[in-house]
Amino acid sequence: MIREESLSEISDGRLYTENDMVRADTGNCAGCTQVCCRGMESSIVLDPYDVYRLTRRLQTTFDKLLDDKKIEINIVDGIMLPNMKMAPDTNACGFLGKDDRCLIHDARPGVCRLFPLGRYWENESSYKYILQKDQCHKPGLSKIKVKKWIDMHEGSAYEHFIVSWHKYLKRTEAAVRELAAECASEQTENTLEESRTQTSGSSMTPEQQIRVICLYTLKTFYAAGYKASDENDFFSEIEDRISKAYTDLGME
Ligand code: SF4
Ligand code: SF4
Repeated sequence: MIREESLSEISDGRLYTENDMVRADTGNCAGCTQVCCRGMESSIVLDPYDVYRLTRRLQTTFDKLLDDKKIEINIVDGIMLPNMKMAPDTNACGFLGKDDRCLIHDARPGVCRLFPLGRYWENESSYKYILQKDQCHKPGLSKIKVKKWIDMHEGSAYEHFIVSWHKYLKRTEAAVRELAAECASEQTENTLEESRTQTSGSSMTPEQQIRVICLYTLKTFYAAGYKASDENDFFSEIEDRISKAYTDLGME
C-alpha cells in the first residue's frame, strides 16, 4: 500500500540503505505484549513473492488460502490485491499461534519481514528504508544492519523484483485511475448517444477494462501459481510474466 505522506510524519526522518545501522531490532519481540499481528485490518498486502513463499512452505494454493480464510482480497489503490486476513473472532492474523508466535516465520510476508521498517519510494524505480514512527512500542530497540533485519538472503534479485513489481502496480494504478475518470465523465454526460455506443459497440466500457486489469493481475501473478523450484527461478519467471502483462494489457 502506497502512502503519500511526508517523511517526518511517518518516520524518524532518516532514509536508510541496506548497509546502514537502524534501531529496529525488537529482540524477537520477547517480553512484548502488544503483538502487532492483531488488528492489522487489510494492511498486510501480499506481493506475488509472498504468495509464492507461502504456498510453497504450506504446500497449498492461492485459492485454498482464500477458501481457508487465511487471506482475502481487497482493493488497494484501485487494484484488487490479496492481504493477510484477520480472524473475525480474535482479530489476529490466521498464522498467529496460540503462543503469540508466527507459525510461518520463515515464510512470513515482506511487510512482516520489514516491520517496523518500511519502504520509501524516491521515484518509480528507487527506494530507501524508513523506521516507521509509532509502530513498535517496545522501548530500547537495538541497532541492527538493515540488511540483516529484513533477512535479505535473496540479494539483488529480490530488490530487482521489488522494483519491477512496484512499477507494474504504479502503471496499472495509473491506467485504472484514467479509466475511472472516463467512467465518471461518461456518467456525467450520459447522453443517449453514448448509451447506444456502450451497448452496441465492440470495445469494452471503462468499467469492463478496469475489471480486466484487476482480474488479469490476480490470476496471472497470484492464482496461477509458479513452476519455479527455487527463488531464482521465481524471480526470472515473474519478470517474464510482468513483461507479458504489459503487452497483454496494452501498457507498453
Ligand atoms: S510492538 Fe514491537 S516488539 Fe511488540 S510485537 Fe510489535 S514489533 Fe514486536
Ligand atoms: S504472517 Fe506472521 S508475522 Fe505476519 S502478521 Fe501473520 S502471524 Fe504476524
